[in-house]
Amino acid sequence: MIKIQNYINGQFQSAQSGLTLDVYDPSKGTVYATASASGKADVEQAIQAAENAFAGWSETSIEKRSAILLKIADLIDEKLEELASAESVDNGKPVWLAKQVDIPRASSNFRYFANAITQFNSEAFETQGRGAINYTLKQALGVVVCISPWNLPLYLFTWKIAPALAVGNTVVAKPSEVTPMTAFLLGEICNEAGLPPGVLNIVQGDGLAAGQAMCEHPKVKAISFTGSTRVGGDIAKIAAPKFKKLSFEMGGKNPNIIFEDCNYEKMLDTTLRSSFANQGQICLCGSRILVEKSIYNKFKEDLVARAKKLKVGIPSDSETKVGAVVSKVHFEKILSYIELAKEEGGTILCGGQKVMPAGHENGYYIQPTIIEGLSEKCRTNQEEIFGPVVTIMPFETEEEALRLANDSDYGLSATLWTESLSRAHRMARKIDAGIVWVNTWLLRDLRTPFGGMKNSGVGREGGMNALDFFTEQKNVCISYE
Ligand code: NAD
Repeated sequence: MIKIQNYINGQFQSAQSGLTLDVYDPSKGTVYATASASGKADVEQAIQAAENAFAGWSETSIEKRSAILLKIADLIDEKLEELASAESVDNGKPVWLAKQVDIPRASSNFRYFANAITQFNSEAFETQGRGAINYTLKQALGVVVCISPWNLPLYLFTWKIAPALAVGNTVVAKPSEVTPMTAFLLGEICNEAGLPPGVLNIVQGDGLAAGQAMCEHPKVKAISFTGSTRVGGDIAKIAAPKFKKLSFEMGGKNPNIIFEDCNYEKMLDTTLRSSFANQGQICLCGSRILVEKSIYNKFKEDLVARAKKLKVGIPSDSETKVGAVVSKVHFEKILSYIELAKEEGGTILCGGQKVMPAGHENGYYIQPTIIEGLSEKCRTNQEEIFGPVVTIMPFETEEEALRLANDSDYGLSATLWTESLSRAHRMARKIDAGIVWVNTWLLRDLRTPFGGMKNSGVGREGGMNALDFFTEQKNVCISYE
């Protein structure tokens, strides 16, 4: 049995209590590893190590910090096969997807922020007529916490860690207890790249025992969290009275708005992906598809036909388009939402059932599912399902599309399909979302601000925003008279 341990002060060690959590391979529904079930004592040790390492790391030259992060990026690329297969076993996603998306993005995160830090400037203000000059210092905060979810494990873990380290903070990070494996492997990579001990500490364990202790700790200056809106709220309750800096990337229920004048084939190909990629477990998936009435029936037939052809299968099969969802709990949650949709009057146009691939009958597989006939207010259309399940709804006018799109407590992303330039600009301004894609989906430029509106997030990461979040600005005013 593989033992996934904590990485503290450059060393691998089990939780001090000796407790472990079972780690499942969702493609088979069996335990394949154990992870340290850390608690307060382990968190304390990790925070102490990070605190001890802070002075050295924050005073290390930008060139040196950047070079180490670039080395980490190179090592991730070198270990592409090993990391992709580990991610797939841990999460259930197709190996080809981990190879094409998750692992390359993890190295891009390190590479991007290793370069960005060399361009991160402070400002100067000449205070004319008063004989003074003001300038800013952007200083590392100290010990910061990064907490990430299970859907894109290494991708999102590194999205937070890389900017935090680049500006000179030391980090205590926790991956999801559901997918701890690639974070564990990252520890080895950091040692190989020459990251000094204590600069990055990875604590394994669940949210209540390990995560909460990290967020409560008085020495922690900032928390960057990606996960559910519910847990974001719990963390805010703990951290806000202690005045820690907070950045939250949370849930979504994103509209995919399709107008008759769209490039139909491009829209259909992309909509298939934005509905079911990563088993629908991407916070940016378009789970509410709104379609102009004039093309509703054609679209419905075409999407259903395409969805039925998607192969649901084991992650190691290169033909598999939809792998296993991440856990038994999540599998049951998704199936219960499909039942709820029926109770709420929805018609299941395709899918709706679990799948049992030969030899993997106990794995957590669900058919791509398309549902119509639901009101926009029902729970199926309001709550995040986070699986291969989408609803489709017709609309008649641009105003109606906008009203439906914004009729949500979430505001993470939206996709808009139209060839009308004016409509694209008009709608993009009015949609409540942190990112609006027009005639594309999931096209990401790491320099752009990333985050959500409403219950989808607080703050923006990405580009210089992330470097700003992980630093404190200080104004120095010097009189020269
Ligand atoms: P989750 O909120 O259950 O867990 C996320 C992380 O928080 C895990 O590491 C977990 O152990 C930890 N945690 C749980 N309780 C905690 C507590 N009390 N204190 C501190 N840490 C705690 O989310 P999940 O189920 O792992 O992930 C799915 C969710 O993540 C979905 O809602 C999805 O939309 C969201 N998500 C958002 C984005 C984004 O960029 N906005 C990206 C990916 C996923």
